[in-house]
Amino acid sequence: MNSKQWKQSWDLFDENPLIRIGQHPVAHADEVYVYFYRRQVLLTEGNDIFHKKSFDKGFTKEKVFCGEVLGQNCYGIELKEKELVPHSYWIDLKDSRSIISLNAFALVSRAMQLIEWLRQHKFCGSCGEQTSREPAGYLECKPCSLVHYPRISPSMIVLISRGSEVLLARSPRFPPGVYSPLAGFLEPGESVEQCVHREVFEEVGVKIKNLKYQGSQSWPFPHSLMLGFFADYESGDIVCEPGEIEDARWWKADDLPAIPPKGSISAWLIQTRVAQITSAY
Ligand SMILES: [Zn+2]
Repeated sequence: MNSKQWKQSWDLFDENPLIRIGQHPVAHADEVYVYFYRRQVLLTEGNDIFHKKSFDKGFTKEKVFCGEVLGQNCYGIELKEKELVPHSYWIDLKDSRSIISLNAFALVSRAMQLIEWLRQHKFCGSCGEQTSREPAGYLECKPCSLVHYPRISPSMIVLISRGSEVLLARSPRFPPGVYSPLAGFLEPGESVEQCVHREVFEEVGVKIKNLKYQGSQSWPFPHSLMLGFFADYESGDIVCEPGEIEDARWWKADDLPAIPPKGSISAWLIQTRVAQITSAY
C-alpha cells in the first residue's frame, strides 16, 4: 500500500460519512445497537458491529448514545451476561480494531469509554453523593453542584526517523516480537510537544527535532486520545528505560520487525513513513 492510500484510509470522515459520532439522537429515527460485555464487542458473521435486534431491559446494564449510522440512531449497550446471539460472535475490543472500519471503531471507542465512565462515576468524588445523568451528556452532583465530564486522557505517539531508518521499541507488555513507535501520556501542565521530547528522552535517551503532527485516534484502552507525530533524530545513543522499554533499535525501512495490526495509528505512522522513505531512497 502506498502512502497516498494510507493517508486516505486515515481520513475518518471521508472513509464512510454515513457513520458519524454524535451527542444527540435524531427524533423518530430507527435504532441500531452495538453490544458489549466487559471489554468484548459483539460482531455479526459478516464482521459488522451493528445489530437491529434489541435485548429486553432485564438483560442490559447501561445504554449510551454513540451517533448516527445510515440515518439511524446508534446506541452502545452493555449486557449483564455474555449472551450467545445466533450468527454473531464476541471478540476483544483490541482485536476488533483490525477487523472493523475506522469509523465503526470510533463508535465502539465512544460507547466503551462512556459506559466505563458512567460505571466509575456513580458517586461524586467531592462529596460522595449520587450523581445523575444529564441529557447534554455529563453527570451532575445536585447536592454540591459539581459537574463531571467524560474523561479523555491525551497521549502522544512518535515515529522517529534517521535517514532510511526508523526507531521502534517494545514494552514488556507487548505481544512477543512486536515493536512500535514510542508513546506516552501527557503530564498535567505539559504541552503535547513538550511531552514528546520528554518521553523520548526518558524512554530511549535520544534527542529529536522537526516534530510534525500527523493525526489522532481515539483509543479506548482505557480512555486515551493518541496524537501522532513524525520526528527526526538529533543526537544521543539509545539507552532503554528499565521497566518501560525492553528493547529499542533503529530499523531499516525495508527490514522491519512485527508491528501493531492495521486499524491503529501506530501501524499507520509506520506504514506511511516507510512508504515515504522507500520512495526517497
Ligand atoms: Zn458532590
